Amino acid sequence: MPYCRMCGSGTVIAYLPYAKMSLCQKCFLEFYVRRVKNTVEEFKMFREDDVVGVAVSGGKDSSALIHSLSKAFPKLELKALHINLGIPEYSDHCESRVRLLVKSLDIELYVFDVKKRLGFTIEDFMKTRFKRKICSICGTIKRHIFEEMALEANVRVLATGHNLDDIASVMLNTFFNGNWSQLTRIKPLLPPLAENMAYKVKPLIRSPEKENLLYCLYGELPIRSLGCPHASQTGIRKYMQLLERFSEEDPGFKYIILNRFLELIPMIENVFPKPELTRCRLCNFPSTNEICSYCKRILLVKQKDASA
Ligand code: SF4
Ligand code: ZN
Repeated sequence: MPYCRMCGSGTVIAYLPYAKMSLCQKCFLEFYVRRVKNTVEEFKMFREDDVVGVAVSGGKDSSALIHSLSKAFPKLELKALHINLGIPEYSDHCESRVRLLVKSLDIELYVFDVKKRLGFTIEDFMKTRFKRKICSICGTIKRHIFEEMALEANVRVLATGHNLDDIASVMLNTFFNGNWSQLTRIKPLLPPLAENMAYKVKPLIRSPEKENLLYCLYGELPIRSLGCPHASQTGIRKYMQLLERFSEEDPGFKYIILNRFLELIPMIENVFPKPELTRCRLCNFPSTNEICSYCKRILLVKQKDASA
């Protein structure tokens, strides 16, 4: 029978294959928080006297993120930023879980209701030529809105729940598709795109997806129990499956990918300098084009509405 590596108790709840380590509930939760703290410190993501916005979706990753940050840095001022995407049933369910979680942590919550603020929902893109790429559209919209919310909430740093599996699969995707400029976007600490905008940080970059779920379950966090109806269209899944197969052979494989790419990123940045940024004519956000991809998508969905 396995024993907890930390305290020797016999009630093991987690086995971490990459470290050949079994842990009991208390030691697993402490180990998880310690890793988040170490990651923040390793990449100098923020100081304890900062104001940090956390993008929370109601899912396991962002819920584990905001909860563990509040435990790792008790003096840190956290603000929760949530987007209600207007996906029937799913979005209201997610918002209700986020409200419960932040209430239990006594953290201020900012909600951006896409329907109320912009007059459309993510569902409306199903009527456009992007209907098969709805997750990519959703990602563009969310990235922009979180930047806006970070400005409104006046936070210097914006933390997102990208986990080890997300990052390693995007790294593989980037490698196989030669999309090098995307690689620099997944750095653990991204400087602001322009003055007054937030730094973006990924404190869960060393936390595997499964452990985020375990942290939520054993920490009894209220997380969503409904899946997004569009989730199966996420193209990155095939790289996640590939990672799982490699990880069966070598449980540390995801960390190997992460560490090698982290070493490579500065070299890639030297070879592929950052594109020149201008300001979007419509929203005034930094953009490589006259009209940013967010505004282009919005124009498209509004035109569809007008022609309906
Ligand atoms: Fe958006 Fe796709 Fe995630 Fe649904 S699964 S919330 S559409 S990114
Ligand atoms: Zn714009």
